[in-house]
Parts: sequence; structure tokens; C-alpha cells
Amino acid sequence: MVPKTPHKTLSTDILILGSGGAGLFAALHAHKAAPELSVTVAVKGLLGKCGCTRMVQGGYNVALAREDSVERHFMDTIQGGAWLSDQELAWKLVVLAIERIRELENELGCFFDRNPDGTVHQKAFAGQTFDRTVHKGDLTGIEIINRLAEQVWARDIGRLEEHRAVELIRSNDGQAISGVLFIDMRTGEYVFVRAKAVLLATGGGPTMYRYHTPSGDKTCDGLAMALRAGLPLRDMEMVQFHPTGLLAGTHTRMTGTVLEEGLRGAGGYLLNGAKERFMPRYDAKAERATRDVVSRAMFSEMRKGNTTPHGGLYISMGHLGAQEVTKQFKGMVERCADCGFDLAGGLVEVVPTAHYMMGGVEFGPDCTTALPGLFVAGEDSGGVHGANRLGGNGVANSTVFGAVAGDEMAAWVKSASHREPERAALDAAIEFCERPFRRGAAASLEPLRDRLHSVMWEKVGILRDAASLQSAQAELQSLDEALNDYCLPTPVREFNLTWHDWLNLKSLVAVSRAIALAAAARRESRGAHFRTDFPDSGSLEQSAFTSIKDGVVTMKPVAFTRVAPGQTLLRNVA
Ligand SMILES: Cc1cc2nc3c(=O)[nH]c(=O)nc-3n(C[C@H](O)[C@H](O)[C@H](O)COP(=O)(O)OP(=O)(O)OC[C@H]3O[C@@H](n4cnc5c(N)ncnc54)[C@H](O)[C@@H]3O)c2cc1C
Repeated sequence: MVPKTPHKTLSTDILILGSGGAGLFAALHAHKAAPELSVTVAVKGLLGKCGCTRMVQGGYNVALAREDSVERHFMDTIQGGAWLSDQELAWKLVVLAIERIRELENELGCFFDRNPDGTVHQKAFAGQTFDRTVHKGDLTGIEIINRLAEQVWARDIGRLEEHRAVELIRSNDGQAISGVLFIDMRTGEYVFVRAKAVLLATGGGPTMYRYHTPSGDKTCDGLAMALRAGLPLRDMEMVQFHPTGLLAGTHTRMTGTVLEEGLRGAGGYLLNGAKERFMPRYDAKAERATRDVVSRAMFSEMRKGNTTPHGGLYISMGHLGAQEVTKQFKGMVERCADCGFDLAGGLVEVVPTAHYMMGGVEFGPDCTTALPGLFVAGEDSGGVHGANRLGGNGVANSTVFGAVAGDEMAAWVKSASHREPERAALDAAIEFCERPFRRGAAASLEPLRDRLHSVMWEKVGILRDAASLQSAQAELQSLDEALNDYCLPTPVREFNLTWHDWLNLKSLVAVSRAIALAAAARRESRGAHFRTDFPDSGSLEQSAFTSIKDGVVTMKPVAFTRVAPGQTLLRNVA
């Protein structure tokens, strides 16, 4: 029997989608700003146990040291982003990162590593002119999320765990958001949550690529919902690949997971299938070049066919001394050993792996979007990083803008009221989710997932051109049609993971199509986006970002509100 309306309707003042750094910071700030309001965090997984903030290894960029400055952090961010960042967003990031790290330490109880003199230890990360990455060993994200989750649990903040958001529902006059439709994954029931303000913080996640780093719960659901709601998304062609994903075969989920950047930083070599070092042929900085440069060089080498048994390349650390490597990279050595590799003394197979989406929903420095009442923060948002994200700016982004969103939503709802949802939109959303339950020949989703992984990896990946992007668009459309025809093998609704896989794939295909369209529109190579048919970076002064809405891409000029190409905010720079 097809449900026509949600089984249940709940009501809250502020509804937060996702419990990563952005979602949890938003919840704490909204609650602190207005304790009388009801705040609810709804999440696909379990609060504190899912998302990528928990997976942060390296650390958090913040200009704390006396010799460093927010101007320097800002310039590194703008230059790293190849001048495509929204400068007001980037400025807010670098300024408020200082407040957030103090709050994490002094109010929430995070213990970050310290120097012998008691100051916070800050390490080097690629693409930065100062060592400004705060960390807790190489498990920084666990420290941050555990402390945030404890604080949320201790307060009167509502939780809807294992609740998957499936549609943003406008009010019946179409003028604002009225709430969000969910599937309670435990029962399979539809739940509509009315809210005066909603935060989209589902964390993007480029898991449409064959090799990827993010957690499995991240399938671009938020971005797909935003596209369907008619919101503009920017910089969608900008997908960051991390050069050293572990390559251990198709039988293990460890394939794709990150071997940290510090290995290359410490002097590790990349070797091809013939065990020859190749990076010096591609860039003067060799293995220490930025992520985009190294990933491109690796992909080019792989295309020549000179690869390892699993089709990748090797990382070699042995020349640095096995004992020293084990001491410095204990976690990485153990991770590799689990997969049968000897990182300290031997060779480990690696492959570039999709890591982060710079693109996302267009938003203002106060986290508002084009839809009144809908706010966005974290990896679902676009514009902070431009064409490339610096390592360490991801978790800064989610915590900084999560907190801003919490404060702003608390202020917004004081003059807002609940709105009636558009009934037709609710019905249409339920009908969409019900589609795979109709009767028909059931099949496996695996071949469809493999097709998606292949087309994105081969044609919309590290190297792109007009022909590959055009062919990808056709393949993605046919994949979407195949998903529309798909029938589930069982009508069970409770924890029906195949149903959720189908929904995951629908989101991923919709967002993949946006990536391919934006990549076709940018006829130049910038940051993470490389067109073999347009290898030049184009004029920095004429920089424009892609904005996609209702399937149409527009190039919009970047406003150099603080600094223009060729200028700097730093004093005493020749
Ligand atoms: C392995 C790895 C290492 C990293 N290391 C670093 C680092 O050292 N430094 C750095 O700055 N950045 C790092 N990053 C990037 C960083 O993790 C992210 O930029 C940031 O944490 C994203 O925060 P977020 O709150 O936007 O999303 P997340 O923390 O990913 O949270 C997203 C949340 O949304 C939920 N969700 C998803 N879909 C739905 C749905 N449909 N309904 C309800 N809830 C949903 C998820 O379950 C999750 O709770 C790393 C990323 C990875 C994958």
C-alpha cells in the first residue's frame, strides 16, 4: 500500500540536518543564543558516530601564532583557491577560526597537542606559508566530535537519529521553507518535521568516484535536495582528489581511504609500476607539490599503463629508515599492515582518491540561502575555498559556519512562524521515494553503482575534456533512467538498506550531472579542475565562478572585495 501522506508530523523551531562539525556547532550555538527555542538535530547515522568531521586526521587551520596573521591565512586561502573564493566568506573563515578553536579548547574541552612551553602545537600543511594546523596527533576529528557530541547530549537538544532527510518542503505560498520530509530508517515510515528555520549540513561527499575517502553515509543528499528545490549551487566542477588513497583491492572498504599527506611531506617517494620515481618529471617540487598537481601527475602516469598489480602506483618510505617511519607514522603503518602492506620498509599501492567538494549551495556570510528560512554550512556550502581547499581549512569551515548558522537561526526564528507545507510537494516527494517498491523484476544495484563509479572516474575525474564530459552526461542520464526503472527485491521497509542505497544513488547521480555540466562550462583549467583541451588557467582578473540552477550553468564574475590578483594584504612583501 503506497503511503499518501507522512505517517507522522513533528514540530521544532530549528531543524539541523547532519551531525558533523557544522551541525553540532549550529545546535550548540542556537541553544546557547536562545535556550527557550526547540532545536532538533536529525541525522542519517548516529549522532557523534557518522560523517567526515570525525575522520579528520591532520588538523585545523587557524592563525594563532604571533608571527602569523589572519591576513596571511586569508591570502593562502585565496591563492590556494586560484582566486575563485568568495572573499567575504574566506575572510569570515580565517577571522572566526580563532574564536572557534578557543571555544573548542576552553569551553568544550578539546585537548590539542602542545609545545613544551604550553602553547598550542601547529604543524605544517601543504599550500600554506606558515605552520598553522592545530591537531590532536592524527585523530583530531575524533577529539572534536566527541567533545561536541557530549555537550549536545548534555543539553535539551532534540535528536532524530537514523532519520534520512529526503526533501526540503516549501511553504504552500512557495515563499519560504516549511520543513523537511524524512524516512525513519528504523521503521521505514515517512516523518514530516515542521520548522521555522532549517540548516542544511549533510556534508556533500564525492562518493560517486571509484576511489573516495568520505564516510559511506555521505552521498550528496543535501546537495541533491538543494538542486531539486531550485537553489543555485556554485563551483560544482571543483572536486578535490587526495593523491594517496590506499589501493588494496575491491574486496575491502579500506581501498580509497587516505594515507596522510605528511608521508609525502616527510620525503616519501611515489613510484610507478616499474618502481621508478616519476614526480620530478612533472613538477619541480616533486612529491611535495600541491594535491591537484600530484594527483594529475599520478593519473597521467597511470594512463600510460605503467601501474601496480591493482592498477595504481606505489608510495615508498623505506629510504627514510623503517624505524623512523614507524615512529612518526604509527597509525598509517598499522593501517597498511592491516591490508598486507609494509609502509615502513616496503612499498604500498596507492591511487588518487576523491576527497572533498569545494562546490555547494550559494550562501551569504550569515549562512542564508536563496530560500528564506533555509541556512547552509560546512561541506554542503560553496564559495569559501574556490577552486581548491587547503588541507586544514575543511574542519575550520564546518565549525566556523556551523556556529554562525546557529547564531543566525536563533535570531531569525524570533520573528518567524511555522508555515503550512505545500501538500503537492509532500505527495510528490513520497511518490519519488516509493518508486522502487513497485512490482517488477528485481535486480542488484551493484552494476549501476559500478557504472556510476566508472563514468565519474574515467570521464569527470582528474583529467577532463569536452568529449569525455559530453559522453558522461549521456551516460549519467541513462543511469538515472535505469534507476527509475529499478525494483527492490523486497517490500520490507524496516532498515531496508537496498532502498537507502537506491536513494543514495539517486542523489549521487543528480549531483554528478551537476558536476559534469559545470565542468563542461568551465573552458579553462583552475585548481582541482583540469581540462586537457583547455590547459590554461585563463585570466585571473576575469575570474568567474559557475552557478548551476535548474540544469543551467551561468558564469558569474568573482567580486574581489578585499584583494585583487597581483595584490596582497600582507605588509612588507616585495
Ligand atoms: C578521511 C578524511 C580526512 C580529513 N581530514 C581533514 C583534515 O585533516 N583537516 C580538515 O580541515 N578537513 C579534513 N577533512 C574534511 C572534513 O572532514 C570536512 O570538511 C568537514 O568535516 C565536513 O563537515 P560537515 O559538518 O560539513 O560534514 P560531516 O562531518 O561529514 O557531517 C555530515 C553529516 O550529515 C549527515 N547526513 C548525510 N546525509 C544525510 C541525510 N540525507 N539526512 C540526514 N543527515 C544526513 C551525516 O550522517 C553526517 O552526520 C577530511 C575528510 C576525510 C574524509
